[in-house]
Amino acid sequence: MTGYKKLLILIALMLLVICLSLGCSLVSRPEGSVDADAYTMDLNLDTEENILSGTVRIDLTNHTDKPLDKICIRNYAASILERLDAGESRITGAEAEDRKLKIRQRRDPSVLYIHFKKLEPGESMSVKLTYETDIPEWDGILGYHEKDGKTQYLLTYCFPMLSMFDNGRWNENPYTFRGESIYSGVSDYHVKLKIKGEDYTVAATGEESSDGNVTVIEAKDVRDMAIVASDYMEVKTDTAEGIRINNCILKWEGADQYNQFSMDAAKDAVEMYTENIGEYPYEELDVVQCFLDGSGMEYPGLVLIGCPVPWLRQEKAALDETGWFVQPCLLVAHEVAHQWFYAAVGNNQYEEPWLDESFAQYCESGIYGIGRPDSLRRAITAEEEYESSESEYGYEYGLLWDSEADARNEAEMLMNGSGVVAINKSVAWYEKKYRFWKNYDYNYDRQVYTNGAAFLFALRDAMEDEAFRQAMQRYYNIYCLKEAKGEVFLRIIKETNDSEQVQKVIDAFLEF
Ligand SMILES: [Zn+2]
Repeated sequence: MTGYKKLLILIALMLLVICLSLGCSLVSRPEGSVDADAYTMDLNLDTEENILSGTVRIDLTNHTDKPLDKICIRNYAASILERLDAGESRITGAEAEDRKLKIRQRRDPSVLYIHFKKLEPGESMSVKLTYETDIPEWDGILGYHEKDGKTQYLLTYCFPMLSMFDNGRWNENPYTFRGESIYSGVSDYHVKLKIKGEDYTVAATGEESSDGNVTVIEAKDVRDMAIVASDYMEVKTDTAEGIRINNCILKWEGADQYNQFSMDAAKDAVEMYTENIGEYPYEELDVVQCFLDGSGMEYPGLVLIGCPVPWLRQEKAALDETGWFVQPCLLVAHEVAHQWFYAAVGNNQYEEPWLDESFAQYCESGIYGIGRPDSLRRAITAEEEYESSESEYGYEYGLLWDSEADARNEAEMLMNGSGVVAINKSVAWYEKKYRFWKNYDYNYDRQVYTNGAAFLFALRDAMEDEAFRQAMQRYYNIYCLKEAKGEVFLRIIKETNDSEQVQKVIDAFLEF
């Protein structure tokens, strides 16, 4: 060791002492996770005041290498209600071991910090939150729809959850009405829900059992909780790959054919995704019919399936008379695919939305759509019969690709021409782009869904079917019930096939 080096070390040590005495730290920020081991919720749904209230106990463990003196809680309902100007969601109390804890809300009402003395690395604690949320009359993911004295409540994004502690930081991504922004790890949920009202049927993430107006829900290894309660919903059950599929349909006349397509599509999708991607990690899947305007939404073990828009506007009794049978099949195939990519393989939906949406769209169009299972073939035939009949709803098809050749053409066109900006950007990045380029060709849906599905199809074509399938299965099996990042998916792809052609596809669709 030279004298020069000794001098450098001495200077470094002096700087360290000065820095520590000033209260700053040369040590990198704490890494590792803070995990919610379980959520125990005791909830009341007041169907007269339309208020959800109760307590949520979060058992959590500090798996970082630093002591914690606060945790971040996300209450997305607060942001949704603020944006809708339709009430409030309030966390009114926080306690641990019967001691009150300080709650500090950020400017974003969905971000709250709960402060406490200290939680050492490896230690666990329980934080109990008391909260109350208005349920708006809104045909969105958090709201109720009422008609003729009958109601359906969609209770989602309304349960306070522990934020993700990722790379030494709490996730404070805002709630977004365009795209999705939830990012959470898996946990166990134990829920008791008491409904003020009679004859409510409840569908929820996990397994639910009702006794009178009390429903108990148990869900293991899920990254969120969704509950639907309605006094005109009934449940039809079937199985696929040993999984219990509950088709939760609303009790209206003349919807038998439509409802059956929904169930058959769910069964076909579960079978195809199990074969091509991997095993569904839960025992039950609820497919819930609702009033979302022709769209759907995914939660662990539960998907929301909105009815066709023209039909919703008119609310005619006979859904079968719309002749829209392909639409529910594709919607179900898409939302069910999110059980594999979002519920099982988690991702930061705000930072890397392509990891759930491009994959779900690829499953819908590249596996279910091109695969033409029985449900889809029958739906196309039934819909074509309506095309020539006097259906007042018009003809609505909606397949992204008719065949492999069609998908290949589109992928090649995108790779050789314009149309692809990048499929792997954050929701915020696309939001910024919207402001500058109000053009469908460049917007979030086009890039992340349509072009994202074309990217995965182009990869499959470049690698050949079997190698692509094995890479997808490997990715799925490694990250099932964990959280993935785009870079790890690409690493697995390149480990399977490192050819120039594969790199060309990646370069055409992704931007870093
Ligand atoms: Zn989706």
